[in-house]
Amino acid sequence: RELPGDERIGGPTRQVLHACYSKVTPSVLVKNPELVAWSKHVADILDLDSKEFERPDFSSFFTGASQLKGGLSYAQCYGGHQFGVWAGQLGDGRAITLGEMLNSKGERWELQLKGAGKTPYSRTADGLAVLRSSVREFLCSEAMYHLGVPTTRALSLVTTGEWVLRDMFYDGNVKMEPGAVVCRVAPSFIRFGSFQIHAARDKADLPIVKQLADYTIHHHYPEFENLPFERQGSDGSSETQKGDNNAPQIDVSKNKYSAWFTEIAERTAFMIAKWQAVGFTHGVMNTDNMSILGLTIDYGPFGFLDAFDPKYTPNTTDLPGRRYGFANQPDIGLWNVMQLANTLYTAELITADEAQFGLGRYADKFMSLYQQHMSSKIGLKSYNKDLLSKLLSNMAFDKVDYTNFFRSLGNVKATPATSDDDLIAPLKNALLDLSKERKKVWLDWLHQYVELVVAEGVSEAERKAEMDSVNPRYVLRNYMLQSAIDLAEQGDYSEVENLLKLMERPYDDQPGMEKYARLPPAWAYRPGVCMLSCSS
Ligand code: AMP
Ligand code: MG
Ligand code: MG
Repeated sequence: RELPGDERIGGPTRQVLHACYSKVTPSVLVKNPELVAWSKHVADILDLDSKEFERPDFSSFFTGASQLKGGLSYAQCYGGHQFGVWAGQLGDGRAITLGEMLNSKGERWELQLKGAGKTPYSRTADGLAVLRSSVREFLCSEAMYHLGVPTTRALSLVTTGEWVLRDMFYDGNVKMEPGAVVCRVAPSFIRFGSFQIHAARDKADLPIVKQLADYTIHHHYPEFENLPFERQGSDGSSETQKGDNNAPQIDVSKNKYSAWFTEIAERTAFMIAKWQAVGFTHGVMNTDNMSILGLTIDYGPFGFLDAFDPKYTPNTTDLPGRRYGFANQPDIGLWNVMQLANTLYTAELITADEAQFGLGRYADKFMSLYQQHMSSKIGLKSYNKDLLSKLLSNMAFDKVDYTNFFRSLGNVKATPATSDDDLIAPLKNALLDLSKERKKVWLDWLHQYVELVVAEGVSEAERKAEMDSVNPRYVLRNYMLQSAIDLAEQGDYSEVENLLKLMERPYDDQPGMEKYARLPPAWAYRPGVCMLSCSS
């Protein structure tokens, strides 16, 4: 049945009360859709034969112009804290879930189109996505996966053949850009904000928080499903003891929601420790962009570090505050987990003590993983705070490329017999134009480093192999994406393909691909180039 406009998008744009989702049919206009790229890895997860991508109607299904049989398409209702401020209802304004599928391994995967038209959550926006932002999301989700970072995935990228109007925030002009749709794939796209919205509205909605928690635990955290529900702490049924650090001692196995919350906190810490290790800045860590599964979600104005700058933010909407700058991410992660704790506390699923316990675990988990990652990045087994903080402050001072420095450090011959010149030579692609004084600072650091490497007694070959396995040779720098986008906008998708292939093996030296390890060219710093906002 052909649905009239409003009905197709699940009714008008509005506040959707007492519900977790609205049924929506994609309504995007499509003229000559074209398949730009697809991920073989994700197709394999979904048991999709590569022939499926050659079907003339593939693009029609994966823009949402044709509906998949058996799908139940919907948009999620969620709220969120944006830049630290409660923003009320947000929801899937331009994402529509097509449905879920069980693969041959019995895994459940949700397929979601981004940019397939308006939903009740579109507010004043158009429900669409442009090729530029879609190339970025498609490539980065796959790149992050291969870098070893938990993330949502991307199956396909299709152009709609229609034009979409976008405000150019850097010069105030408007521009028509080609429309596109990415098919995202994840076990679930439920976010912190999916719970928050029901605790923020009417008291009568609090049972929905529990209902959604039970749903999430049943499908995605079954290990907790059969635990009892006995709250501990001052406002619960049993008392807690204080531990050495004055934190409440909780036995999470007594309360399934406490066990679940603690696991979410730890997964979030795990994800952010990985971000810091590979130099990834998300750009918009609002609570509606925090996955309940601890996956990196919503690739908007993200960026990988080039020159090391702890305050780096790729998001022009976040200037000058830099709330979501690189070095702030671990604290923001904690702040976000605290908002989830508040919601679960308000719904009386966890007590204040249980919340505090989970938050403590976030901090512990993050610190131990971060220290491990940073030690591995310099090829040491034990964490040396002094050495690493000196390194990061030297890198910030000399604006040293984050990716290239760590990768090249693996080539430094860390023996006492190595001369100063030989010691610093492998770092010449990262330590550029050093003054005499700065060269001395770096040599001092290198000598301290060599001493520690020698004391650990690891062989040079072993150290290099370990370092190469954690320090990517290639990351998806914004300028590389920009080149792929410029060509794609001319109908040439070859560079999207090249980058997808490149980023499938980011830790391997790939012959012929050396140019992708280069620093950003001068054009990348021109106004308007590689400048990104939330709405991109
Ligand atoms: P983000 O900052 O990308 O997480 O987006 C924040 C909110 O705005 C989410 O609810 C999005 O669904 C919504 N949104 C972003 N772009 C659009 C768009 N072009 N049309 C409709 N909703 C949008
Ligand atoms: Mg979002
Ligand atoms: Mg977004």
